[in-house]
Amino acid sequence: MSDLIIIGGGIIGGASLYYLLEKGYDGKILILERGDALAQESTSLSAGGVRNIWSTTVNMKMTSYSIKQFSEFKDRFGINIGFEMNGYLFTYYEKEWENIVKFKPNWDESGVDTELLSPEEIESMIPGLKTGVDHLDPDILEMLSISPIVGGLFGRGCAILNATSAAQAYFEYSTSKYPEKVTVRLNTEVDKIIIKGDEVKGVKTKEGDEIPCGGVILAAGAWSAEILERSDVQEDLNIPVVPIKRMLFVVSQPKSINYEKIPLTIIDKGVYFRPEAENLIVGCADKNQRPGFDTKPNRTYYEDYVNLYMQARIDGAEYCRIQNMWGGLYADNTEDHNAIIDVHPVIKNLYIITGFSGHGIMAAPAAGLSITEIIMDGEMRTIPEACSLNLERFKKRGLVTETIVI
Ligand SMILES: Cc1cc2nc3c(=O)[nH]c(=O)nc-3n(C[C@H](O)[C@H](O)[C@H](O)COP(=O)(O)OP(=O)(O)OC[C@H]3O[C@@H](n4cnc5c(N)ncnc54)[C@H](O)[C@@H]3O)c2cc1C
Repeated sequence: MSDLIIIGGGIIGGASLYYLLEKGYDGKILILERGDALAQESTSLSAGGVRNIWSTTVNMKMTSYSIKQFSEFKDRFGINIGFEMNGYLFTYYEKEWENIVKFKPNWDESGVDTELLSPEEIESMIPGLKTGVDHLDPDILEMLSISPIVGGLFGRGCAILNATSAAQAYFEYSTSKYPEKVTVRLNTEVDKIIIKGDEVKGVKTKEGDEIPCGGVILAAGAWSAEILERSDVQEDLNIPVVPIKRMLFVVSQPKSINYEKIPLTIIDKGVYFRPEAENLIVGCADKNQRPGFDTKPNRTYYEDYVNLYMQARIDGAEYCRIQNMWGGLYADNTEDHNAIIDVHPVIKNLYIITGFSGHGIMAAPAAGLSITEIIMDGEMRTIPEACSLNLERFKKRGLVTETIVI
C-alpha cells in the first residue's frame, strides 16, 4: 500500500514529491497522472515567468525562495531549465505610480531587488518603446484609453524559465534517486478520492481500480475542485477554485529590433511580452473570460485587442504576427487569487496544494517544501508566512489579497 498518493504530475506534484523525499519521508509515494506524460497541462502551457515583486509578504517570500532554487537547478539536477534572469519590468500611469513609489521601502526591507525607472530609462531598456502618447491619434488614444507611462518598476531578480523541464527535473531526480519509494503511473485518471467518515482511505480510478493509501496530496491544478466534488465532498468543504482559460501567443519580434535579452515587460492593460528564442511570447488576461474547461485559443483576441496596445507603444509591433498560440487553464482561487496549501480542516490526510491562480510555477519550490513540512513536521518552518494560505481563511475572511497581479 502507498503511504501517500499525489494526484497530478505537474510542477506542483513534482515539487511536493521532491521535497518529501529530500526531507527524508519514509513511506512509499504513488503519483497518479491521467496524461500519457508528466507536466503536459498548465505547467507546460505557462509563460514561465518567475517574479518576486508582490504586494504581500507571503508571495514575496515564497517566490524569492523559489527563484533561488530555480537558479540552482542546473547544478542540482544536471538539467538545463532555460533559467534566464532578465528581470521583470512593470510600467505605470501616474496614479498607480505614486503607490509604487510609496511601496518601494517594503521591497527593500524584504530583500526584493527593485529599481524605479524614469520614462527615459524604460525607453532605453526596451528599444522602440514609446512611454508618451503624443505620437497617437486622438481617436486611437480614446479608443484604447491609455495614458503616458510615467515610471517603471524593474525587478532585477526576476526571471524566465522552461517550466516543463523544471517539473521533469523533479520527477526524474526523485524516481532515479529513490526508486524503491516512488512509483509514477501515467494514463491513470482519478475518478474520486475514497473518504470514509472524516478520513481518506484511498482513490478510485476511472477504470474502477481502488487503490488504498494513507493520505492524498491533491495537486491536480484546475481539476482539483472537480475531483473533490466527485468524491462527494460537501460544497462548503470544497475549495473555491475554478478553471479559467488564459491564452499565450508566440509572435515575431517587431521589425529591426532585437528583444532577445529584454525583461518580461508589462505595458497597458496588463499586456505582457517576453523573449522566446527569436520570437516573443505575449499574453494578457481576458477580463471577459468565464470559468470553464475551454482552452481554445482565440486569434482575434490578439489581433483586435492585445496587438493594438503593442502597436500603440512599440515601433513596428504591427509585424508581431502570430506564429503559434495556445490556451491553458489557471486554477483560479475566486476568493483571493492566491494558492491554498493546507491539510483539509475536516478530512484527515487530505492535503491540498492548488489554486495558484497564474503563479504556480514561481511558487512551486516553496509550495512543495511547505506541504512537506505540514506533512512531516505539522507546521511550515522554512516559510512560516505560507501558513496564511490555509483553507480556514475563506470562512474567517482572512483573505490574502494581492494587488500586483497581471
Ligand atoms: C497561459 C498560462 C500562462 C501562465 N504563466 C505563468 C507564469 O508565467 N508564471 C507562473 O508562475 N505561472 C504561470 N501560469 C500558471 C501555472 O501554469 C500554474 O499555476 C502551474 O502550472 C500549476 O501547476 P500544477 O502542477 O498545479 O498544475 P498542472 O500543470 O495543470 O498539473 C496538474 C496535473 O494534474 C493532472 N490531473 C488532473 N486531473 C487528474 C485526475 N483526475 N487524475 C490524475 N491526474 C489528473 C493533469 O493532467 C495535470 O498534469 C500560467 C498558466 C497559464 C494557463
